[in-house]
Amino acid sequence: MKKTLIIIGGGIIGMTIAREACLRKKFEDIIIIEKEKKLGFHASSRNSGVIHAGFYYAPNTKKALFCTQANNLLRDYCIKKNVQLKKSGKVVVCKDESQLSTLDELYKRGIANKSNIYLFDENELSNYEPLALTKNKFIWSPNTWSANPINLINVIEKELIELGVKIICDREIVSQRKNILFDNYKNQYHYDFVINAAGAHAIKIAKIMDIETDFVLLPFRGMYLKSRRKISCFNTHIYPVPNISKPFLGIHTTLTSDGFIKLGPTAIPVLSPENYINLRGIDFNYLPNIIFNQIKLLFKNSFGYRDLAFKEFKNLSKKNIISAAQKLTSFKLEEDDFEWYTPGIRAQLFNQKSGNLEMDFVNILNSNQYHILNSISPAWTCSLKTAEYILDDILNSIS
Ligand SMILES: Cc1cc2nc3c(=O)[nH]c(=O)nc-3n(C[C@H](O)[C@H](O)[C@H](O)COP(=O)(O)OP(=O)(O)OC[C@H]3O[C@@H](n4cnc5c(N)ncnc54)[C@H](O)[C@@H]3O)c2cc1C
Repeated sequence: MKKTLIIIGGGIIGMTIAREACLRKKFEDIIIIEKEKKLGFHASSRNSGVIHAGFYYAPNTKKALFCTQANNLLRDYCIKKNVQLKKSGKVVVCKDESQLSTLDELYKRGIANKSNIYLFDENELSNYEPLALTKNKFIWSPNTWSANPINLINVIEKELIELGVKIICDREIVSQRKNILFDNYKNQYHYDFVINAAGAHAIKIAKIMDIETDFVLLPFRGMYLKSRRKISCFNTHIYPVPNISKPFLGIHTTLTSDGFIKLGPTAIPVLSPENYINLRGIDFNYLPNIIFNQIKLLFKNSFGYRDLAFKEFKNLSKKNIISAAQKLTSFKLEEDDFEWYTPGIRAQLFNQKSGNLEMDFVNILNSNQYHILNSISPAWTCSLKTAEYILDDILNSIS
């Protein structure tokens, strides 16, 4: 039987799913439809490029189930395909003793999630990162590497073309009726199975396909400073202990695969899924809902949103990002040595029923549709593993 699989969205998730579907050989035609002129233009190329090792996530969540295995899969894939890598590892450091209990919790989660992780006393820190600062203890994660996200997209795209995936760019899916998708040029695409991998727009696509959820998009902008020149004196990434009730990891130092240092990312509330700079990229279809929810959350301070928002707005200033990063290291970070770098938007969902940010990935299988919602960090790390999981799910459902 001729089976057509259509994937809406050509970010890392849509691309790795297309690759996995090809390897399983169960669909005759596999098509990616992407609204931009090239693949991977949004979150998949605008992130930290850190291959996370799986210790942040509460056991039994999808993130916890996927991330450790996903880390191995992605590191192996990058090595095999010569993707630019930095095999750095990372340390997680405490600013004061009040953070020790959370550091212990991260270590326990790491052990439960089978991550390769070590908890050391501060006197060991100089063996891993002499330039890092900690109080009492720190975590060492040797498998937290970084890769070049744009290089990775290009490598996967090349593989998809070799595998025979049809890639259609510059076409936005705007509606759907009876197994037919319609794009913004009124072209029609018949599908036997469709996967919604539209990243920050996935909730909109789900609605187009009559999927109702309690979720709304609450986008946050991740801004970075990047060093103007290569800096070779650091050995590892340096991360602070995060607030584990929120899906953000705090401003950290990341070593890029090409030898620079990035500081960030922030988590600044913004007005639209592509609102990368000031008021540019505002989408009036999203605006009323997003503003309504932001005002409500500011007023109620649900999940500490008001405190988060005020703290994060300060990070619009270069000086404040530098000063947050400076707490992690004895290396003198100078404002003039850093410039703003390509920001990304986190496709964060807010659950209107529970009044909380959704912390985990959300997958919905409905007949011949599969929706990938809340594609937030570490979805980039998890992409190859997520693709395996989703293909298992889909093939079980249609066998
Ligand atoms: C600042 C920041 C830092 C991050 N750091 C890390 C990190 O270090 N490690 C990590 O693992 N993860 C990280 N992440 C998360 C990671 O980048 C994302 O989770 C991942 O890239 C999501 O991939 P995606 O394919 O789901 O989404 P996207 O890359 O956004 O792809 C979705 C695609 O769908 C397309 N699309 C949308 N609507 C339509 C439509 N109607 N028709 C056709 N196409 C459509 C879009 O144009 C887009 O190309 C970070 C994210 C951000 C924002």
